[in-house]
Amino acid sequence: MKGPRTIHVECPICGEQVPVQLVARVNVDADAALVRELVAGRLNRATCAVCGHSGALPEPVIVSAPTRGFVAGYIPAEVPPNRKAGIGERLLKNAERIARPKGKAAACFGPAQLRRALPELDWPRELPSILHRFDDPGAARHQEQAARRALKARPDDPALLARLGIALYNGGRTAQARAPLERAVALEPGMADALHALASVNLDDGSPEEAMRLYDRVVSISHAPLARFLAGVAAHRAGRPKDALDRLQQAVREEPGLVEAHVWLAIVHLASGSRGRALASLRQAAASGMSDPRLVLDHEEFGPLQSDSEFREIIAAVGKRHERTPRTGRRDRRVRHRG
Ligand SMILES: [Zn+2]
Repeated sequence: MKGPRTIHVECPICGEQVPVQLVARVNVDADAALVRELVAGRLNRATCAVCGHSGALPEPVIVSAPTRGFVAGYIPAEVPPNRKAGIGERLLKNAERIARPKGKAAACFGPAQLRRALPELDWPRELPSILHRFDDPGAARHQEQAARRALKARPDDPALLARLGIALYNGGRTAQARAPLERAVALEPGMADALHALASVNLDDGSPEEAMRLYDRVVSISHAPLARFLAGVAAHRAGRPKDALDRLQQAVREEPGLVEAHVWLAIVHLASGSRGRALASLRQAAASGMSDPRLVLDHEEFGPLQSDSEFREIIAAVGKRHERTPRTGRRDRRVRHRG
């Protein structure tokens, strides 16, 4: 049987190559303690020496108990739901192949499932239900702390400065995000994600003119319809209706399903006194798949249309669709709805 081998994985926060000893098989009969290490996340765990980010590798492990005729294919961490069935099938086939001819085989995701499959083992009382994956950078707060630790070793790394700034911005700390983002783009002017986040900082902090300029730079680098759309929002807030229309119309030409861009086109039209064009844009938003009327109603700019019968018809139609499509409740904060 092969022993552990060492592989290198890239840290999703600082980019460091992290060595990990990979254990591919655990024999419960020979070493019962090993399976407890496995489900506690101490085996196949990567910890980055630069930033401290840590997590389980989503690598399959064969857990076998030959005296019980039992083999399980085990993955310790979260697996995307759309891939779970396919992976589970492969795990099970693999386990069945090894358990042949009369053994019992199982596919297990996470420590709790493995305990259910092998209840007779001496399990610790507290088990994590699922382990955090190393390749998942985690919550904004965790990313921020890890980036700060990594910056101690590499203070002028633009990618780390960008990651810190983006984590701060995503964690709602807009003002603090500015300095690291400005330094990142000063060191590396073509870094689209840092420019995008810096543009958003400016948009949120009431500097729409600067935000527009930065989103335009993102577009010139990456041709992203989302940045074009946000450049349009910034232009509107900067009091430049023509620049706003140019950008928003281009954004929906490039990505017709960008519902929010249609909604903002309606806002710009309404602000320039064109009720007819505003309603046409809202119809476009509905036709492009808008399924939540709050995307419109959250904008106080539509106040003047509240009693307009055509406006109410559009909203009512979207509202009916909304009732039929349960949504996750997660709202996007890429454009905050203050004036
Ligand atoms: Zn790292």
